[in-house]
Amino acid sequence: MKQPFRSKHWRVDWFDPELEHRKYLKAYREDGDYSGDVTLYFGDLHTHTNLSPCAGVHPYNPSPEESYAHAREVARTDFLAIADHAEHITDAQWAESMRIAREHDAPGEFVAWPAVEWATHLHGHRNIYYDRYDVPLISGRTHQTPRKLWDALRRLEARALTVPHHSARELLADLTVTDDELEPAFEIYSNWGNEEYYGAPLQDTERSFTRGFAVDTLLRGYHMGFVGGGDGHPAPPAETGITGIYAKELTLDSLFEALSRRRTIATTGAKIRVDFHINGFPMGSVIRFGPNDVAQLFPLEIGVAVQGTANVEKVDIVENGVTVHTKTKPRKDGAMAYVWRRTAEPPDGMLRTPNNISRFIYVRVTQRDGHMAWTSPIWLDFDYGD
Ligand SMILES: [Zn+2]
Ligand SMILES: [Zn+2]
Repeated sequence: MKQPFRSKHWRVDWFDPELEHRKYLKAYREDGDYSGDVTLYFGDLHTHTNLSPCAGVHPYNPSPEESYAHAREVARTDFLAIADHAEHITDAQWAESMRIAREHDAPGEFVAWPAVEWATHLHGHRNIYYDRYDVPLISGRTHQTPRKLWDALRRLEARALTVPHHSARELLADLTVTDDELEPAFEIYSNWGNEEYYGAPLQDTERSFTRGFAVDTLLRGYHMGFVGGGDGHPAPPAETGITGIYAKELTLDSLFEALSRRRTIATTGAKIRVDFHINGFPMGSVIRFGPNDVAQLFPLEIGVAVQGTANVEKVDIVENGVTVHTKTKPRKDGAMAYVWRRTAEPPDGMLRTPNNISRFIYVRVTQRDGHMAWTSPIWLDFDYGD
C-alpha cells in the first residue's frame, strides 16, 4: 500500500451511467476489507411501537408487526430498527420484541435490526443497535451513565453500537462523552427536526440549545457519521428521518459492519442518493497522516454525486462546520456529479500543524421541495506519529 492517499475500488450500484462521462472518479477503496461493490439501502433506524408508550402519553404507536409491514410494503424501505424505550418495557416484552424482529428478518430482502432506546434523565437518549437477537435488556435503569452502558455492551457476546439523538433539545443526549469504537454516528434528523447546527432549516430554534448540534459535536474531534430516524410519537416508520447505508449486502451483519464504519447518509425522508469521497476514500473514512506525508494529501480531490428525488437546489461541501463550496444548476432530473479540488493547504511558510490541516468534511444536499440529505463526514486527522 504505497499510495495511501489515492485509493480505489469503491463502487456504488446506483450510479447513473450518463454521469460516468463526467470527471467523477467512480472507483474507490479503503484499506482493509471494504473494497468492492456496495449498494445503498434505505431504512428507519429509530421507530417506536405500542410496546413503549412513552410514559403513557403516546399510546397510539403501531404494533411491531404493523411497523415492519409499513416499513417494507408502504414506505418500501430495506430495513427497520424498532428502538422502544428500554425503561418502559419488561424483560418479557423485550424477549417478545426480539422474537418478532427475528421473525421479520429476511436476509436479502429486509432486515429487522435488533435495537432499543436507552435513556436517563441526566444523560439523555441513545439508541443501541445489536448484531444479533439473543441479547439481554439493557436500560438506563440498570446502567445509568453512558460509560457504564458502553462497559456493559463490551462485556456482551453480541456486538453493539450506540447513536445519540436530539442532543440539542430537551432530554438532550450527553455529548460530553462518546466512545470512538462503539458510537459511530449521530442522529442528525428526525421528527424533532434538523440538528446539524443552530439555526439550520427545518429546525424549531425556540426549543433548541445553541450547542449539542452535529457540528458542535464534530468540532470536539469526535468521529461520528450521520443517520436519520423517525422517532415519531406516534408515527409509522420512515415518514421523517431515514438513513441510507452503503453495504455489501442486505443482511444484518453487513448493515452492522457498514454502520460501524460510518458508511451512512441521513435524509429528511426522501430517498436522495448521495455519494462522496476524498482522494478515493468513501464517506466515514478517517484519513490519518503525519508531517512526512501530508504533502501527498493535497490537492484534495473531493468527489460528489447526487441523484435527487426532485430538483436539487444546491449541494454544499461543508468543512469544519463552514460551507466552503456550493454547486447549483443540476440537470433537470436532479442528478449531478463533480470533483472539487481543494488546494487550501497552508500557504508557503506557514507551519503544517494539526490545527490547520486536520478537518472534517461532509456534503449537504438541499432540494427545491425542501428535502435535505447529509453524507457522513470524512476526517483528515493529523498525527505526529510519536
Ligand atoms: Zn429518545
Ligand atoms: Zn425515540
